[in-house]
Amino acid sequence: MTVPAYDPENIFAKILKGIIPSVKLYEDEDTLAFMDVMPQAPGHLLVIPKQGSRNILDADPVVLARLMPVVQKLAIAVKQAFEADGVYIAQFNEPAAGQTVFHLHFHVIPRHEGVGLKPHSGSMEKIETLTAHAEKIRACLS
Ligand code: AMP
Repeated sequence: MTVPAYDPENIFAKILKGIIPSVKLYEDEDTLAFMDVMPQAPGHLLVIPKQGSRNILDADPVVLARLMPVVQKLAIAVKQAFEADGVYIAQFNEPAAGQTVFHLHFHVIPRHEGVGLKPHSGSMEKIETLTAHAEKIRACLS
């Protein structure tokens, strides 16, 4: 079964174009990272490539190779910023796997022993809280 075509009007493409606001954390030539608006835990962030692909199934391997070091960099920073015991990294492909936004993205979520995650796409966080969390993470980026 083939993957449906990439839709350049998806919400993350609009964030990349600046049409929709986001709480940005990190940006380089190929990559953008920003806070998830419905965090499953404080510090939940998303890392996306600037090049459009629906998910990992249709992504250019060269894009993935540039993206993963940023996922690693932010995982290290968010672990330090939130004094977490671990970091959960998730990436969903197609609705059957739980994907709801069809622009490739990696979830990076700090985890603490014995603390559960809130539901996926649960409730919206306040912008001030997301901004404060982004500042904390940015301070730990080397
Ligand atoms: P999924 O496609 O299932 O991997 O999840 C998409 C994620 O994007 C969810 O965790 C949403 O909370 C998040 N999300 C949806 N819209 C926005 C937005 N405008 N800014 C930041 N995060 C978003």
